[in-house]
Amino acid sequence: MFIIRMIQESSLYQITFFKNESLSVNCYLVEEDDELTLIDTGISESYRGIMEAAAKINKPITRIALTHAHHDHIGGLDSIKQAFPNVQFYISSRESRLLSGDLTLDIDEPQTPIRGTIPKHVKTKADMLIQEGDRIKSLLVLATPGHTPGSISFFDTRNKALIAGDSFQTEGGIAVAGQLRPSFPYPALGTWNKQVALASAQKLYEYQPSLLATGHGPMMREPCNSMERAIDEAEQNINGIKRV
Ligand SMILES: [Zn+2]
Repeated sequence: MFIIRMIQESSLYQITFFKNESLSVNCYLVEEDDELTLIDTGISESYRGIMEAAAKINKPITRIALTHAHHDHIGGLDSIKQAFPNVQFYISSRESRLLSGDLTLDIDEPQTPIRGTIPKHVKTKADMLIQEGDRIKSLLVLATPGHTPGSISFFDTRNKALIAGDSFQTEGGIAVAGQLRPSFPYPALGTWNKQVALASAQKLYEYQPSLLATGHGPMMREPCNSMERAIDEAEQNINGIKRV
């Protein structure tokens, strides 16, 4: 049994699935004029909660986009696609390779192993492969590799809300992917490359988001100061650089 909670911040709805007090995962519904885009699909038991949330908002989910292919972000995908075959499924082209079981790295990528659990039996095939600069209605796609090689984030151009997947976590304290928070270590343990994750975090900071929405932990309003602190800490840990 797990508990579901929905919190609204303007056109963004955070749906959180709590397995217990210290284990939770988020997915998001982004509201457009007549429809909803679902970002991430939680764990396999998330289907019902996501459907109930959409029913409450009273608009249909027409698109599903994944920040990355880890099991706790992709769990509900097959059930939703099965129930609503017309829903379009978007994933980054780089990340789609992980779903097909290909964990090889490109020659220009750091040769650290891809970590975290990637489900092997996902039936849903991508309707659209996306990359940096693509648009999904109000959302701008940003390539933010690091947690996985094909991780992406979504920036709402209407209000500067940022859905960052696991590029940042806010559970157990804000952190850049790869920086361990002992009370919630899973995103760090599942991170492919800390250095690449740091560069992506810096890129996200430059967008000066008004809201930070992560895969794990509460949404943060006016997050830039906190993001900067988390980036400084990651920089120190990785490069030994201390900014004055
Ligand atoms: Zn992850």
